Amino acid sequence: MAGKLNLKELQALDAKHHLHPFTDAGALNAVGTRIIERAEGVYLYDTEGKKFIDGMAGLWCVNLGYGRKELIEAATAQMTELPFYNSFFQCTTPVTVQLAAKIAEVAPAHMNHVFFTGSGSEANDTVIRMVRRYWQLKGQPERQVIISRNNGYHGSTMAGASLGGMKFMHEQGGLPIPGISHIRQPYWYGEGGDMDKNEFGLLCAQALEDRILALGPDKVAAFIAEPLQGAGGVIIPPDSYWPAIKKIVKKYDILLVVDEVICGFGRTGHWFGSDYFDLEPDLMPVAKGLSSGYLPIGGVIISDRVADVIINQCGEFAHGFTYSGHPVCAAVALETIRILQDEKIVENVRDNLAPYLNEQWLTLQDHPLVGEARSLGMVGALELVKDKKTRERFSTTGATGALCRDFCVKNGIVMRAVGETMIISPPLVITRDEIDELVAKARKSLDGTAEALGIAV
Ligand SMILES: *Cc1c(COP(=O)(O)O)cnc(C)c1O
Repeated sequence: MAGKLNLKELQALDAKHHLHPFTDAGALNAVGTRIIERAEGVYLYDTEGKKFIDGMAGLWCVNLGYGRKELIEAATAQMTELPFYNSFFQCTTPVTVQLAAKIAEVAPAHMNHVFFTGSGSEANDTVIRMVRRYWQLKGQPERQVIISRNNGYHGSTMAGASLGGMKFMHEQGGLPIPGISHIRQPYWYGEGGDMDKNEFGLLCAQALEDRILALGPDKVAAFIAEPLQGAGGVIIPPDSYWPAIKKIVKKYDILLVVDEVICGFGRTGHWFGSDYFDLEPDLMPVAKGLSSGYLPIGGVIISDRVADVIINQCGEFAHGFTYSGHPVCAAVALETIRILQDEKIVENVRDNLAPYLNEQWLTLQDHPLVGEARSLGMVGALELVKDKKTRERFSTTGATGALCRDFCVKNGIVMRAVGETMIISPPLVITRDEIDELVAKARKSLDGTAEALGIAV
């Protein structure tokens, strides 16, 4: 039916009936929505037939690219056999069990259980429930506070948005909920000034210990962070940061929650960001790449330390979702992991694609607008600045990022703007030639932005 409507008709209906996530509806309706109609590999096509190279893998999730027949067939077969059954009341489905076992196989050795959810946000809701329940059962119910970070992203439910450190989200809903405490982020380019990168990393880690002491160590339940910040602007912590954080969480015996919703399932060239940074998490929320974005599914991967307590002491864990372990989503996730394994996609990212992306991406460093180009695994960022020396920005409202994004659309590339930072997170199956195209189109978009700002390139 939708195929029969033309762009203008779709835009009119969209404006009339559809409220979009993270969108200024009035502003959107004034210009009209772009409507993506089909996709293949790393390319998207809109209703007018315009082609885009998808530098964001949908929304950090379509790791295997578009049009993978095996995923479609896995969904179809499962739909046919059993479209839904729940995992409540002494039940589950074969594919749900197999997915749990497969996740335990690829997860760090000390993590052997998974609690399924429908999304990353629900996974982080589950984290709060589980962390607080854990400390209750350990006889320390006063351990309630979860420390997280400014400008972290953990989803958009009440719990997810509260754990997250996005001020503009907190301001709109009376958030955060009680018992969440935010510390500074390890954003060297934005906040490190003249300081040595690793010295700055240590300073940011010290903020965790300072906060634990200020709150009282017997009040702190957990620390949650992304291995590298995604939605906050692809912020890669200095090398000194995670080792120092690891020591602090150990010293005060607080749970470490590593939000792997973006990094999980290969994005860093390792199965998990925790593998890349050598972390030993107690809980890992996952989603996005778990099913390559083809169907919504998330979960929390749980360490033996926490699982033992939940299994042996909890009684009924009073939490869960209708779609926890949904069989069709599970079938697609299981097939996604099979493809990642059989095609050695994670290894190819580590040994081939990520080094190549890094080499090519960093050539953008010479562009007059780019203060810093950085990448790790298959994520990258460009800091747009007016003055490379002082890191002075063109705008504090993200106007230059938005301008650059407009040029990206024009040039057929999806790159996202986070304030004055441009970010990419392409599918893990992108080829070297397609990386060349991505980088060339990014440069062309930077050139267009510079020209519009009256800056010579
Ligand atoms: C996207 C994201 C979430 C939220 O996942 P949803 O599926 O959108 O609820 C949580 N944490 C991180 C790190 C994310 O990037």
